[in-house]
Parts: sequence; C-alpha cells; structure tokens
Amino acid sequence: MFNEPDEYQEIRDAIRQLCRQFPDEYFRQVDEKSAYPEAFVDALIGAGWLAAMIPEEYGGTGLGLTAATVIMEEINRSGGNAGAVHGQMYNMGTLLRNGSKAQKEKYLPPIAAGKLRIQSMAVTEPTTGTDTTKIKTTAVRRGDRYVVNGQKVWISRVQHSDLMILLARTTPLAQVKKKSEGMSIFIVDLHQAIGKGLSVRPIPNLVNHETNELFFDNLEIPQENLIGEEGQGFKYILDGLNAERTLIAAECIGDGYWFIERARKYACERIVFDRPIGKNQGVQFPIADAFIEVEAANLMRFEAARLFDAHQPCGAQANMAKYLAAKASWEAANVCMQTHGGFGFANEYDIERKFRETRLYQVAPISTNLIYAYVAEHILGLPRSF
Ligand SMILES: Cc1cc2nc3c(=O)[nH]c(=O)nc-3n(C[C@H](O)[C@H](O)[C@H](O)COP(=O)(O)OP(=O)(O)OC[C@H]3O[C@@H](n4cnc5c(N)ncnc54)[C@H](O)[C@@H]3O)c2cc1C
Repeated sequence: MFNEPDEYQEIRDAIRQLCRQFPDEYFRQVDEKSAYPEAFVDALIGAGWLAAMIPEEYGGTGLGLTAATVIMEEINRSGGNAGAVHGQMYNMGTLLRNGSKAQKEKYLPPIAAGKLRIQSMAVTEPTTGTDTTKIKTTAVRRGDRYVVNGQKVWISRVQHSDLMILLARTTPLAQVKKKSEGMSIFIVDLHQAIGKGLSVRPIPNLVNHETNELFFDNLEIPQENLIGEEGQGFKYILDGLNAERTLIAAECIGDGYWFIERARKYACERIVFDRPIGKNQGVQFPIADAFIEVEAANLMRFEAARLFDAHQPCGAQANMAKYLAAKASWEAANVCMQTHGGFGFANEYDIERKFRETRLYQVAPISTNLIYAYVAEHILGLPRSF
C-alpha cells in the first residue's frame, strides 16, 4: 500500500514477472532438498539485477540502494527467498568503497556481468560470536602472502560463490591501542582456497541458507588480496553493514506483505461455523494489526535507503529499519500461521517455510539485542553496556 516513488514500479513489475517463472513449488522443492535455487539465481543474474549497486563505469546499472531493496523485497513478496543472493548486493559494496583501483577493475566488471559471484562474507566465529573484535582467526604476513589460521561459523553461500570477504586479525589484540584496530579484510578466491588450507563443513539448520563452518589451516592469500589498509578491516566491515541491514529490512517487508496477503485470502475463503473465518474480529484484527506494523516498518526502510543513497549518515535508520521490519515480518508470520490453523503447518502451503526463513532475521546478521544496544548508546547517549 505504501506509495514509494513511481520510479520503482518498473523494477517491481520486472522482478514480479521474473519470479512468476519460479512459483511456490520451486522454492518448496529447493527447501525440501536443502538445495540452492540455481535456476532462479541464474535468471536474476542473467537479467542484470544483482548488478544494481555496481556503478556504470564498472559495468553495473548503478541504480543505488533503494532500487536494490525493491528487488530484494519483491523476491520475498513473491514467495521466494532473497537470502540466496543478498550477499552479492552488499559484499561488492565493500570492494567498491575500500578496494584499490586495480581490485575494482579486476573484480567488479565480471561481477556485474554475472561471471563472478561474491556471495560470501566470513566474520562470525564460534568462540566470540557478536564480540567481533575478539576474533581469533589470524592472517600473518609472510613475504608477498598472508597465512591464515582459525575458524569461522555460520558462513553462508560458500558453495555458490567464487569470492569471499574474510575478516582476520593481522595485529594481536594485545598490541593495538583500540580493540577495533588490527583486523583486516581480504578477498579469498574460494576455488583456489578450498582443499588448499580451507575446509568447509555444512551446518544442517532451521533454514536453507547454505551455511557452513570454515576451518583455515595455513591458507595462503596473495598480499594483493588485502582490501584497503592493513588493520582497518573492522571499520570497512562496519561501513558495509548499513546497506546489509537496509536490504534485509526490505526482505522482511516482502515477507510481511506475503504473509498478510496469504492470511487475508485464506480468511476470506475458509468457511467455519457457516461463515468466512475473516468475518470474526478475533481473526481479522490480528491481520490488520500485522499490516499496520509492516507499513510502519516500511517507512523506516525507505528512509534508511534514501539517506544511504544521498551519502548521509544512516546507521540509526538502517538499524531501526532492520529491527522494525524483522519484528513486523515475524508478527505477520505468526498471524498467518494462526489464521491457517492446522493447514499452516502443511508444507504445501509454504507458510511453515517462510515462517522459518523470516525468523532468522531477528538473530542475523545482527541480533535484536545488539540493535537495542546501538540505539541506547549511539542515539540515546546511555552508557555502553558491553
Ligand atoms: C542461517 C545463518 C546464516 C548466517 N550467515 C552468516 C554469514 O554469512 N557470515 C557471517 O559472518 N555470519 C553469519 N551468521 C552469523 C550471525 O551473524 C550470528 O549468528 C549473529 O551475529 C549472532 O551471533 P552469535 O550466533 O554468535 O550469537 P551470540 O553473540 O553468542 O549471542 C547469543 C545471544 O545473546 C545475545 N547477546 C550477546 N551479547 C549480548 C549483550 N551484550 N547484551 C544483550 N544481549 C546479548 C544476542 O543478542 C543473542 O541473542 C549467520 C547466522 C545464521 C543463523
């Protein structure tokens, strides 16, 4: 319902049309087989949609973040899962903002042309979790190479990516003035790395996100794969998070509208006690409530994207958009499940699949508590809690 500028209607129509080739059954089967939606991703890349944030000078379409969020939203709103591809939208941003001219010229045109995928980013570690500055994976310079040792967990899409952004400590924590210093980011060529110092173990879990544990055992990375300045990697990762959070907020908005539409339709059609269940206020009010929440979250999502595209500070809005949208989509998921009664649990309705998928976003890529902590400290000026 929310009326965003007309300029995005064309994108919406095109993505909807593309998504019609990949109906519910397609994503249901992909989920049941714990597979990767290859045909869908190929179609999306083939049509150039994942190059939305790559500037035209590097072969992309330079549409910006707002347009990119519309693409992500429409995928989820059509019943799909943009989680299979969202990494490509924000990981290339890390390269674009912080990479050298040579790196941008080498990688961005083939990414824009769909010949190279940069779907993965490896930050999280099993023993440190959200406390990123304590990561234990190290990259030690030896001549013209860095040698990486350590472990990562929950790293997505490694099996369907050519490149991965890796955060590792290059100066020991004890030797830096600020704990956020001394970490660096690298481009890892996964084809060269897997089996030669990098091993990958999939983690069976609630959502089909192709997520893995990674083990680094003397993995060698050429020095020229360092992105930006050594020791500044944490700052570069943080810079990219606003785009990631806004894109994921849009996916949640898409989920929210999908759940509401399914609930609305079923509430009109399902007859119990000789009347459509939607005639009961006990059924229709929660649907109306969920709709209001999604609409409100959507305003914050567009505000965050607008500020990002205008190169203005948007940390607060991106975090709040992610918080509001993840909460609204989860509420809509519950309402949709409840409206469908027992049928909500049946795989063929796709509600249980989308229910699992949207639940992720209160935990990853940043948990709700950490957004509260951000708002408390950085916006409200409350004392830092950790
Ligand atoms: C399916 C999936 C895909 C993922 N993909 C990737 C990926 O591609 N790349 C990547 O790097 N990571 C990825 N992640 C990891 C994800 O970003 C982390 O799971 C998330 O950041 C939370 O970290 P954690 O799991 O270690 O939780 P922890 O840090 O252990 O936290 C556990 C709980 O405690 C709470 N908590 C912790 N500290 C505090 C505090 N000080 N105050 C209040 N509450 C606190 C948290 O909010 C959370 O609810 C993925 C995770 C999942 C589940």
